[in-house]
Amino acid sequence: MTAHTTGERADDTLATTGEHSLSTTAERKAVVELSGQAPDKDWVIVTRGLKREYDMGGEIVRALRGVDIAIRRNEYVAIMGPSGSGKSTLMNLIGCLDTPNEGEYWLNGQLVSRMSDDALARVRNKEIGFVFQTFNLLPRSTALQNVELPLVYAGVPSAERKRRASAALEKVQLGERMYHKPNELSGGQRQRVAIARALVNEPSILLADEPTGNLDSQTSEEIMRVFAGLSTQGQTVVMVTHEPDIAAWAHRRIVFRDGRIIDEMTELDELAEGRA
Ligand code: ADP
Ligand code: MG
Repeated sequence: MTAHTTGERADDTLATTGEHSLSTTAERKAVVELSGQAPDKDWVIVTRGLKREYDMGGEIVRALRGVDIAIRRNEYVAIMGPSGSGKSTLMNLIGCLDTPNEGEYWLNGQLVSRMSDDALARVRNKEIGFVFQTFNLLPRSTALQNVELPLVYAGVPSAERKRRASAALEKVQLGERMYHKPNELSGGQRQRVAIARALVNEPSILLADEPTGNLDSQTSEEIMRVFAGLSTQGQTVVMVTHEPDIAAWAHRRIVFRDGRIIDEMTELDELAEGRA
């Protein structure tokens, strides 16, 4: 299996997806270096010197040791690295589930690294859609009810909830399965319900932590096709995965080890290397 778009890019001009251009290494470096300054709103995610430590009864675990990341609207980025390298810690920070000990995190031009828990929760509900390895669906509720749940929390009236939840299910090609419960769906279909639930608030980023970790390779490909389709429609996606085959679907791969970035490769870099 190969990444879905590589072959379409015949030259080394700026890679584009739809009308948006993907960031270059130089642009990312420039935005990351402007410490203390709000990035342009086109940068969905900018982290500068992000650190997260856990105090385990006197022993300090340095999960993130100073991480600089810049992701522009409409990019599709894979985070890779061995177990324990800090991938989930980073996703929790990016997803506004946690706050760093040090460093800046700018989400859509807003400094969220210093926000109170309440403010953080509001930003999270509005801006972030999360997909996990375990689908975390309510077993006794239908696909539609599961997808409606974030809208229930947001206080959206029933008729509008139904309309938006069914539109999200259509987006993942599950319009025909709205009234099925999780145990009446395949693994791939359950994960698609979870993706629809993550999308129903129209988040500015879709975060996925090992979304194919519980799926066989054929079903993983089914899920990767859904992500590819969303990316083509303009959705910004950040996905954690161990598997090179899965990471190959993204436009950029960031590799972690021991709480640091050790490598970063884009499709353009890889094409250039292939030609060299
Ligand atoms: P990955 O997702 O790459 O496997 P994690 O981000 O989960 O890595 O973990 C990075 C490091 O931080 C590991 O050493 C892990 O044991 C530690 N860690 C993660 N979460 C916690 C926590 N809540 N409390 C203490 N240590 C943690
Ligand atoms: Mg993890």
